[in-house]
Amino acid sequence: MNNFLITPIEYLKGVGPQRAEVLKKELGIYTFQDLIEYYPFRYVDRSEHHKIRDLVGLDGFAQLRGRITQILESGTGRSKRLTAKFEDETGMIDLVWFKGASWIKKSIEINKKIQIYGKPKLYANKWNIPHPEISSINEKEVGFQPVYSSTERLNSMNLNTKGIEKIVRNLLKENAAKFDDLLPERFREKYRLVPRDTAIRGVHLPKSEQQVQAARFRLKFEELFFLQMELLMRKKIAMQKSKGFVFEKVGSHFNTFYSDVLPFDLTGAQKRVLKEIRRDMNTGHHMNRLLQGDVGSGKTLVALLSMLIGIDNKFQAALMAPTEILAIQHFESISEFLQSMDVKVALLTGSTKKKDRVVLHEQLLNGEIDILIGTHALLEDTVQFKNLGVVIIDEQHRFGVAQRARMWKKNTIPPHVLIMTATPIPRTLAMTFYGDLDVSVIDELPPGRKPITTMHKREANRLRVFGFMKEEIAKGRQVYIVYPLIHESETLDFNNLMDGYEAISRTFPLPDYHVSIVHGKMKPEDKEFEMNRFANGETQIMVATTVIEVGVNVPNASVMIIESAERFGLSQLHQLRGRVGRGAEKSYCILMTGDKISEDTKKRISTMVRTNDGFEISEVDLQLRGPGDLLGTQQSGLLDLKIANLSRDGQVVALARDAAKEVLTEDPTLERPENAGIRSKLTSMLRSRPNWGKIA
Ligand code: ADP
Ligand code: MG
Repeated sequence: MNNFLITPIEYLKGVGPQRAEVLKKELGIYTFQDLIEYYPFRYVDRSEHHKIRDLVGLDGFAQLRGRITQILESGTGRSKRLTAKFEDETGMIDLVWFKGASWIKKSIEINKKIQIYGKPKLYANKWNIPHPEISSINEKEVGFQPVYSSTERLNSMNLNTKGIEKIVRNLLKENAAKFDDLLPERFREKYRLVPRDTAIRGVHLPKSEQQVQAARFRLKFEELFFLQMELLMRKKIAMQKSKGFVFEKVGSHFNTFYSDVLPFDLTGAQKRVLKEIRRDMNTGHHMNRLLQGDVGSGKTLVALLSMLIGIDNKFQAALMAPTEILAIQHFESISEFLQSMDVKVALLTGSTKKKDRVVLHEQLLNGEIDILIGTHALLEDTVQFKNLGVVIIDEQHRFGVAQRARMWKKNTIPPHVLIMTATPIPRTLAMTFYGDLDVSVIDELPPGRKPITTMHKREANRLRVFGFMKEEIAKGRQVYIVYPLIHESETLDFNNLMDGYEAISRTFPLPDYHVSIVHGKMKPEDKEFEMNRFANGETQIMVATTVIEVGVNVPNASVMIIESAERFGLSQLHQLRGRVGRGAEKSYCILMTGDKISEDTKKRISTMVRTNDGFEISEVDLQLRGPGDLLGTQQSGLLDLKIANLSRDGQVVALARDAAKEVLTEDPTLERPENAGIRSKLTSMLRSRPNWGKIA
């Protein structure tokens, strides 16, 4: 069986060396196994078609039968397009191609009866279908059929979807093609899985929709199950290796702070997370925990309490923030919280003066400093501690993996690490990608927060938006206006920002109004000066780029205006919005866009208007962008899934994870005969992907 699956693809009936070469190059199909895992991307039901006249009531894709009567080419350069007139008995529509015109033109036969499939769009009161799939009609073909994606080169070697279907059929007809179950038999019943052999045949040669569903579920489950097994095994191996300090007690610092200093109760979610952290710190392994929680949910406070536990156990703690402004804010708020207590807090950033640094280094080494707060500057090798026990990393998406690893090396045994992020990662992704990191979630905001009202406005409404700003400022509130400046070098963006600043200064003139500006090209001390003027209420309006995205805390600011909102991603919009709604006042977020916006932008904007829930937003973000983009390219190699889809198969991920945990709890070393299949598959997976343990 094993040998059968690794047979090179050229030995399959109907393939041969030439086609094999192209299958390898174009689709990465080297072996029989690869072809088995080249699943159809959709199915057609040949028994069902639509008529052109019925398109009006149709939502989604249409399958039509008819003829192309005419082909027209128009435009040049980027606006070049190919239009084909397509007719059936009930009407005529346009098929449109913006790309690949010459190839399409060659492959179209005028007046031949064909079948097309695509998503009709209404444009200027006429239906058209952009980039439809075209297939010939063979009257003998009925019922349900797989559709495989192909390429121009494969097409030219008769490996279009039909051709691929044919070779898959040949493979499944081979005598040796029996696909044994790798999962224990009891799983079949528990998770309602069809046998593996049935699933593989069912996904490639189905007779009905139900058969496809059952087959796909089984294969997705299996794929995700092995992914989870792999992650859990790697986590176990990592745990066995990584010794950690044992913090046995919660002592006077923690207790004093909790009972005498803290002016409010912790939320239920904060208490739960704190328990999870205390448990970690007591296991003998080093903590590696991701703390997710929306902006303002009280993560920093949890971090502070965790650091106090470290101090109670005679260790030092460090908190690293991604920007200087944030580091300073943390330093100020934590110093204020701890002012009545005997805890020494220090700040270290890129702008700390050399002679101050010398003193600081010494105080770190002799243990005088309990908590060090700072930026990347903390990573430098010259920064050494007497006994570092807890590391907090704020807004983890801004730090790379390698940078985090440098903090582990600041003690003989790695300190406990808590990574905080306000950019929620959808649960399915968190379960998969942070499989070797423990995840805590604060899913509750402190009481008394007023939800932020979000509105979408276009250029035509600008005067009204200015009027609204004036009203809010008259009430004593402050306003942020944020411009996109994604790459700080983009001159055009910069000009927009400066133009915006000038327009604002004209509309909101001195002496009644004072306007601050902060952007990435300013010197740190100038930025800080402007930030402070705004924070102290000396200026009412802050014109800024996304430098203010993370963490900045000005509770009196109650209006956030985001210019060119179409240029921001969802998570960034959500982060920016989180700058308001921090005080007792009702807050507003206004998203300004141009008049014409794309479907994706509409979806982003409407999501923002609808909800304040970061997790809901992250789910939409995942659907819009796909997991690769969300996680960054570094981790996208893990997304090499053949059939499951992390954006859509959340429930299957959860089931597979439960199943994997169950197997490992009952049979940690996979010795039982029923788990032999799992064991052998896993062994080969772990061998072929040695770097997995290094993620996150
Ligand atoms: P985050 O780091 O998650 O954005 P912070 O820890 O900065 O949130 O908390 C935001 C604000 O809420 C701070 O002013 C903090 O003092 C306050 N806060 C935190 N926890 C609570 C709580 N349980 N009850 C009331 N206020 C809280
Ligand atoms: Mg924070």
